[in-house]
Amino acid sequence: MSLEIPDSMDDCLYFTRRVMDDGKVMCWVEKETCKECNKGLMGKPRGDDGKVKIRAKEYVCPDCKHTVEKKEYEETLTASIIYTCPECKHSGDTQVPFKRKKIKGADILRFQCESCNADIDIAKKFKKKKE
Ligand SMILES: [Zn+2]
Ligand SMILES: [Zn+2]
Repeated sequence: MSLEIPDSMDDCLYFTRRVMDDGKVMCWVEKETCKECNKGLMGKPRGDDGKVKIRAKEYVCPDCKHTVEKKEYEETLTASIIYTCPECKHSGDTQVPFKRKKIKGADILRFQCESCNADIDIAKKFKKKKE
């Protein structure tokens, strides 16, 4: 498998780079095409000021306004990962369902190194609240 890094972050719902002690991970989730019209890329709705509503609880198609509940949509997505394994230094890429699991109280996206089968975890970052 050879994954291509997306040209634009605008095509991604999620993008992160992590550096670990002996490895690194780049992970992204590309927006999926609307299932109703097969044209629009499903994304967070925009407000009247044109800004994306990041806290919105749904995704909407900009073309036909088809709306899907956030959780339902995210569970159908695929995460693409390029990594260097911290255990065996293997460099590879993989794709896994974008489903986070609760591990020790944190939201974790876990995948396995294709060479040594070690678990590699991508923890959800905690953003500082502005308000
Ligand atoms: Zn649509
Ligand atoms: Zn490994």
